[in-house]
Amino acid sequence: MGFPARLPIPDAVLRIAKQLEGAGYETWCVGGAIRDNLLGVENHDFDLTTAAPPGEVQRLFKRTVPVGIEHGTVAVLDQQNRQHEVTTFRKDIKTDGRHAVVEFGVSLMDDLARRDFTINAIAYHPIRHEWRDPFHGADDLEHKLIRSVGDANWRFQEDYLRILRALRFSARFEFRIQPRTLEAAKANVQGLAQLSAERVRDEWFKGIATAKRVSKLLTLWIDVGAARIWLPEIPGGGKRETGNVDKLPRDAVLVTAYLASDPASLLTRLKSSNKDIERARAIGQWRDKYPDPRHLPEVRKWLSQVGEYADDLLALLPGLAVSRFPFPVSRLPKVVAAVRAAKDPLTVKDLAVKGDDLLAAGVRPGPQVGETLERLLAEVLEDPSRNTRDYLLSRV
Ligand code: ATP
Ligand code: MG
Repeated sequence: MGFPARLPIPDAVLRIAKQLEGAGYETWCVGGAIRDNLLGVENHDFDLTTAAPPGEVQRLFKRTVPVGIEHGTVAVLDQQNRQHEVTTFRKDIKTDGRHAVVEFGVSLMDDLARRDFTINAIAYHPIRHEWRDPFHGADDLEHKLIRSVGDANWRFQEDYLRILRALRFSARFEFRIQPRTLEAAKANVQGLAQLSAERVRDEWFKGIATAKRVSKLLTLWIDVGAARIWLPEIPGGGKRETGNVDKLPRDAVLVTAYLASDPASLLTRLKSSNKDIERARAIGQWRDKYPDPRHLPEVRKWLSQVGEYADDLLALLPGLAVSRFPFPVSRLPKVVAAVRAAKDPLTVKDLAVKGDDLLAAGVRPGPQVGETLERLLAEVLEDPSRNTRDYLLSRV
């Protein structure tokens, strides 16, 4: 693949590069944005890599944020308060598969050599419009290949997360993983167990968000052996139906809950937030208990019970085989919309009587109040026209 004469570098980024170069520090654009530009896909911010040490970057720019100062990354704020990451040329001098001790004061070549894949190790000089591609990343872009920079075994052993990154980029761009890189990924997969749950979760979630097809990403995780270690609730053989995963919206919690036999246990392992775990648990609990859309009271009862998770359960439907259901489940979204439009009462809060009304009508204070409200709600879910004060009090 030839390089374009110029890349459209955003003004703010160009200004930062010029200031660094003006102070005598070599500065290049690197990483994802260069790769994405060459691929002609939408790209985000241009990361800069520079010879300037982090302290110098902080000194040269008035407004900075030390976003990853221990790795040499300083974010420079532009006039619109957007952050632009500037990272000092670095080399990893000690690694243990999870963290690296880094050394500054090295060359662009050293900096490119510590990057994960050839397609991520291309540099472009935003002022001189020169290219540096010592590992032939452009050829791999052309041949649609994910290839480790250097010896794949070593590179994965330096940081096992790179195995998951390879899977993510492969699924995102529909690139093959070069055979030796893939072999090394499989051979070193046990090292994934050392990673922190947070880093693994980020990769899995980002992978779901960016894959061309989630089914492809899942197949890669299963084939390489990563799923066995971190997502054991997702059966490799396909015990649950997972074949329609590509029909789901790109919501990582929803997709994970769809795939896993026990979604809450999976997300607990990945140290997800309690909110996400509860959401996944609800999806797991209810995904086999849809109501018959032809029976309105059943739909109302279901809406009342699933509460805030109703939309997740509706979003899951395209992933479920209609043949599982003895009723026309595909009509459910429309029926739910109608129930909502009618503003049918669905919770005790919607009832035409409150706890105080029951007390005034002679119900004893204590658990009986709640129980009575629940009983009244059950009647109203059967028939919303019963939701009048007179009727409900007559039933107390
Ligand atoms: P994305 O589109 O996901 O942001 P990206 O390539 O920009 O893709 P980042 O995680 O933002 O990925 O990292 C920026 C660059 O830093 C990468 O292109 C790569 O050169 C390098 N890099 C990131 N993580 C690693 C890693 N674990 N090992 C080696 N190099 C890495
Ligand atoms: Mg990036």
